[in-house]
Amino acid sequence: MKEKPKIWVWLRPLKNYTPELYNRLFIKMKQSGVDAILPEIYNSWGAHYQSSRHKVLDNWLETILPLANGQNLEVHGWMWSMPNNQEEYVENHRDWYVVNALGEPAYQKPAYVGYYKFMCPNHEDVRQFVSANVAEISAIEGLSGVHLDYIRFPDVILPPALQPKYNIIQDREYPQYDYCYCDRCVEKFKNQSGINIREVDDPVKNKDWKIFRQNSVTELVNNYLVPEARQAGRMITAAVFPNWENVRQKWFDWDLDAFLPMLYAKFYNGGDEWLKENIEKEVASIRQHQQINSGLFVNSYDQDTFKSAIRTSLDAGANGIALFDASALKDEHYSVLKKLYNK
Ligand SMILES: [Zn+2]
Repeated sequence: MKEKPKIWVWLRPLKNYTPELYNRLFIKMKQSGVDAILPEIYNSWGAHYQSSRHKVLDNWLETILPLANGQNLEVHGWMWSMPNNQEEYVENHRDWYVVNALGEPAYQKPAYVGYYKFMCPNHEDVRQFVSANVAEISAIEGLSGVHLDYIRFPDVILPPALQPKYNIIQDREYPQYDYCYCDRCVEKFKNQSGINIREVDDPVKNKDWKIFRQNSVTELVNNYLVPEARQAGRMITAAVFPNWENVRQKWFDWDLDAFLPMLYAKFYNGGDEWLKENIEKEVASIRQHQQINSGLFVNSYDQDTFKSAIRTSLDAGANGIALFDASALKDEHYSVLKKLYNK
């Protein structure tokens, strides 16, 4: 018999939920075969736990952690990595933020949405800041792991189905979405390659420049963030992109325990065939001990299509399923999970 697939659920604070309701939710999850929850405890504005580093929004984690532990659910602290929307940093650490190819800094003129205030992975202070965030979360008693989100650059090209929503056509990489051209990145790349990228006619065509930026995220993950989590005896995972090149996220080079690729097929105008192709490619790209958990956007599915997407994912070689998110899970979805579990 095949091993039961691991089931993960991303969880954001639910409106008007009392401890009693959370307790009931966790019981239901456990009975349906859910193994792990990923509560969003740091969202770049503040912390939903008693942080000594960030503005404390509330003590949500302290409420739900014992309840989830009580049901034997693994709890992985979900944290935003590169965006930083805290006023204090926007005001006092402007040099921490990425700059696009037009010279516009993200703290002042973020791409697409106001919160796309990404920090530069080549800034030593940023590396220290993010790794201290991982360390603080890793130290929380009762957590199984740290889960990295937004561990990347801003999208230079959005998924195809999202472009019309922003009323843009991205048939190539355009400079206003292309990061990071801060003094630090330009200088570091020049030292490595001898090329001043600001003087190159079409930097988009420079392959080394692309690799340089992918590597800068990889170095942050492997040299700064992974050691913090491991030292505390925690797992470390990340939410990653199928179209990784568009966010400079070469995640299969990362030394993580598991990946939760956001295989939100509808965003890519895809179906189960798209899902299958991506999982097969991803499973073949990672190391033996690592795991792929197929990230599904629950709102896209009814009972039948949900079942089919899960089946497709597991048949393609995924070790588990990650569901976005708890608020989208209806009884019809839970019943599919339950049957999977009882098989
Ligand atoms: Zn930079």
